[in-house]
Amino acid sequence: MNPLVSDAPPLHAPRKLKVATVSLAGCFGCHMSLLDMDERLLELLEHVEFDRSPLTDIKTIGRCDIGLIEGGLCNAENVQVLREFRAHCKTLVAVGACAINGGLPAQRNQRDVGQMLCEVYCHHAGAVNGSQVPNDPELPLPLNHVHPIHEVVHVDYFLPGCPPSADAIWSFLTDLLAGRTPQLGPGLIRYD
Ligand code: SF4
Repeated sequence: MNPLVSDAPPLHAPRKLKVATVSLAGCFGCHMSLLDMDERLLELLEHVEFDRSPLTDIKTIGRCDIGLIEGGLCNAENVQVLREFRAHCKTLVAVGACAINGGLPAQRNQRDVGQMLCEVYCHHAGAVNGSQVPNDPELPLPLNHVHPIHEVVHVDYFLPGCPPSADAIWSFLTDLLAGRTPQLGPGLIRYD
């Protein structure tokens, strides 16, 4: 062993950035695209650690550097969680069409939400007689409309796509982690 080289970790090892992620009114497709980075995830984990996320068992969000939001807002709980993310994350990113403009779930904005719930839970073929719209207080109340997240909190970056590709997420995150303003190169910006 070289006596001049210590096995101890450096006193000022660079701090890993904390990243939190969440799916609000999303389909988890954007998270699947994140996982689609495959072996690049190992490289990512050398620079970041995940806080609250569907990928961890952490139930409440702590102080974070980056928050990745999948999904728009379709119920009261979505709004509460989004506000918590905004309060705890230095940089907040709307990931995917749903977070950016409501996405496909916002097609329900054409309809009356009360009527839709009745159609699905009470009048749908196969519904048993006497079926009611679930009204347990544990259930979050639906919003009249689905909203993109920027209508409720300030958003620092928008990463488009349904979902954004793994290459786009990788390019975006590596720029952000290096302290650069993310620039998606050719072929990485898409809206479908
Ligand atoms: S943007 Fe597309 S992939 Fe992402 S949560 Fe919405 S529907 Fe799913």
